[in-house]
Amino acid sequence: MREGVTPLHAAIRGKAVNKILCCGACEARLTPALTLVSSKAPGVASPDQEPGKPLVARGIAFKSWEPIERSFGNVPSLLEFVPQYWLNPDDLTDAVRITRNKDRLSGCCGLGGIDGPNQICRCGAEVGTLRTDCWTPHLFVPDPANTNWIEEDT
Ligand SMILES: [Zn+2]
Repeated sequence: MREGVTPLHAAIRGKAVNKILCCGACEARLTPALTLVSSKAPGVASPDQEPGKPLVARGIAFKSWEPIERSFGNVPSLLEFVPQYWLNPDDLTDAVRITRNKDRLSGCCGLGGIDGPNQICRCGAEVGTLRTDCWTPHLFVPDPANTNWIEEDT
């Protein structure tokens, strides 16, 4: 285990900010209210990346200033943007479904998520990339161009 504070502990100790991920096109809710944890918050350590395991606990949206993937060639990886959010795949609602674009669905045991967004909203908007393969940590990365965060209703 790495030294430091896990995102969950930081969220519990700090002032929690709860937000809901919504489709940018139709405003459908793509997650329940999640606790936002930034990798820039004091004492927060980036989660360990273990293949085949969820990267973050349910209920957490980890705002990372390091991309989940970096390319070593001239062409940037599709997920090489920051900030980006790392979500637990089980936090996606029924509004999110798998794309029908078979070119986006490569993988070994699950989805590799290396070919572009592979999850769509029920309205058809491409909302992000799911990685659930045996060689990847399991996570969902929302596409910032097609999704919005809204404050939880109080
Ligand atoms: Zn939508």
